[in-house]
Amino acid sequence: METVLYLTHTESDGSLGKPALEALSAALQLAQDLDGAPPLTIGLIGGEVQAAADTLAGCGAGRFLGVAGAELAVSRYSSDAAAVAALVEAAQPTLVVAAATSRFSRALPGVCQRVGGRIDTQVTGLQVVDTEPRIERWYYRQRMAATLTRSHRPWFLLLAGGAFPAWEGEAGTAEVEAVPVELPETRTRVVGTQSASADAHTIRPEADLLFVAGAGWTKKQVDGQPHVTEAEQCIREFVDAAQASLGSSKSLVDQGGEGQQVLSFMSHLHQVGQTGTTPRHRKGLATCCHGEEPHVVGWRFITERRAINLDAGCGWGQGKADVLYVADAFDVMTKVNELLGES
Ligand SMILES: Cc1cc2nc3c(=O)[nH]c(=O)nc-3n(C[C@H](O)[C@H](O)[C@H](O)COP(=O)(O)OP(=O)(O)OC[C@H]3O[C@@H](n4cnc5c(N)ncnc54)[C@H](O)[C@@H]3O)c2cc1C
Repeated sequence: METVLYLTHTESDGSLGKPALEALSAALQLAQDLDGAPPLTIGLIGGEVQAAADTLAGCGAGRFLGVAGAELAVSRYSSDAAAVAALVEAAQPTLVVAAATSRFSRALPGVCQRVGGRIDTQVTGLQVVDTEPRIERWYYRQRMAATLTRSHRPWFLLLAGGAFPAWEGEAGTAEVEAVPVELPETRTRVVGTQSASADAHTIRPEADLLFVAGAGWTKKQVDGQPHVTEAEQCIREFVDAAQASLGSSKSLVDQGGEGQQVLSFMSHLHQVGQTGTTPRHRKGLATCCHGEEPHVVGWRFITERRAINLDAGCGWGQGKADVLYVADAFDVMTKVNELLGES
C-alpha cells in the first residue's frame, strides 16, 4: 500500500508560497487516487511552522509533522537535508511529493540518496493507473513528453511550478507533531539574500501575460532608421501598465555582446526558448519576433498565443500562434498603451 508524504518549507515570512500550494493539491489528488492509501502526511520545515500548518488545516491531511528552528528559517543544504531526512524517517512514506523550489531542488536529491530512494524532478503531471502511480515529465527542452513509473520506494517527486492548480481551502488549527532532528555542524552561515537586478523585476512568473520582444524592435524601420529609444519606452510602458512579464528572443539579448544597440532592461534571464526559459503564463504576445522553432519551443505551456509581425509569412503565421496581427508593432503597441492609459 502506498503512503504519501507531502513536504513543504515556509517562506521567509513564515507563509507558504504558491508552488507549495500547487504541490499540495497534486499530492492530495494522488493520495485520493491511490485506492486504499491513508490520508497524506504533511511535513513542514521552517523557522516556525505552526502558522503555515494552520493555513493547511482544512486540507484533510492525516498527520502534520514539523521540524522547526532558527537554523531552518534559511535555505542551506546541510540543515535542510537533515530536517527532511528526519521527516521521511518519521513518516516512512513510499511516495514523497514536494514543489521543485530552489531550496528543495538542492536538498531533496541528497536526502533521497541517504534514505535509499529514487527521485524524479520537474514533474508536470501525476496519475494513477490501476494502482500504479505514474508521472509526466518533459525531456529535451520540452520537446518530448514521457509518462513513466518506478517500482523502487521511496520515490521522491519534485513538481514543476505552474503545472497544477494551487490548493485553496479553509484554515484552522493543525496539531503539529514536532519531529526531533540533530542538525549537523554547519560550515555555511547565511548572512542575507540579494535580489536579482532591478531589470530582472520585469520577469513576473505570476503574471497572466507574457510579452515577448524580438530583435525587430532594434532593426531599421520603414524610415531606414532604428528607433531603439522609442522601442524601450513603448515596451516598458506596456509591461508596467499591464503588469505583464517580459520575455525576449535570443537574437535580441545576444545583441549586447555583438556591440549592437540594445534594450537597456533586457538580459539573458529574459530569453525564452530552447536555450532559454519555458514560462507558464496563460497568454503570450510576441512582438517583432520571427517565431522560429528554437524560440517557440519555449512557448510549450502558453495556451493563448498572439503575435505582431510585419511579415505574414513569419513562423507565427505557420500555425504557431492563434492570432497573427500583420502590422507594425510600434504602431500597435503605441495605440495599446494609449488605450491602457485611458482605462
Ligand atoms: C541551437 C539553437 C538554440 C537557440 N535557442 C534559442 C532560444 O532559446 N530562444 C530564441 O529566441 N532563439 C533561439 N535560437 C535562435 C532562433 O533560431 C532565432 O534566430 C531567434 O529566435 C530570432 O530572433 P528574432 O525573431 O527576435 O529575430 P529576427 O529573426 O531578426 O526577427 C525579427 C522579426 O521582427 C519583425 N519586425 C521588424 N520590425 C517590425 C515591426 N516594426 N513590427 C513588427 N514586426 C517587425 C521582422 O519581420 C522579423 O520577423 C536558437 C538557435 C539555435 C541554432
